[in-house]
Amino acid sequence: MLRVACASANPHKVAEIVDLMGGVVDLVPRPSDLADVIEDADTLEGNARLKAIAVCIAAALPALADDTGLEVDALDGAPGVITARFAGVGATDAENRQKMLQELIGKKENERTARFRTVALLRYPDGSEHIAHGVCEGFIAMKEIGERGFGYDSLFIPTDGDGRTFAQMTIDEKHDLSHRGRAFRALAEML
Ligand code: IMP
Repeated sequence: MLRVACASANPHKVAEIVDLMGGVVDLVPRPSDLADVIEDADTLEGNARLKAIAVCIAAALPALADDTGLEVDALDGAPGVITARFAGVGATDAENRQKMLQELIGKKENERTARFRTVALLRYPDGSEHIAHGVCEGFIAMKEIGERGFGYDSLFIPTDGDGRTFAQMTIDEKHDLSHRGRAFRALAEML
């Protein structure tokens, strides 16, 4: 199996990626002394590439990175590439969710449509890449529901689901529908 360094340092995301890709590549953690990569590209693909290049060089291995954005139609596609810092640089997940609920006050269910978009990128030391995309359509709940997951999971209800938020689902149920599940399954098919 191809040995690949996982570019993410977020334990929730690493767990999801190991779950999705563990049977396809031999995933090893990113070097622990590597500083956080500044994600200042203006696209998801650009940010995924920044993370993959840094880890590829530091680990001297192919590196697997992903970047995700939440696009809310009522906010003209925001927060998109700034999803992680929607409530400001260094914002916590809880602060970002709070800001989302505030921005959508007064919006009815049919005005809260949104989608998660993920770019998954495998970068090899010679500079070649595999890139895959995953999209999950849904809408933003009226309030936080559910205890599982991370990020905006307690606010996101996927259209293809049964009305529950991602935070009410098991990890396997989430993977079946999610942006990250779709992107990594597409990437796995390329390998
Ligand atoms: P990243 O690019 O994967 O680091 O994520 C960007 C932002 O989207 C962060 O605020 C994450 O918490 C959030 N995010 C990424 N993936 C998910 C997910 O699967 N569910 C909920 N929020 C997510």
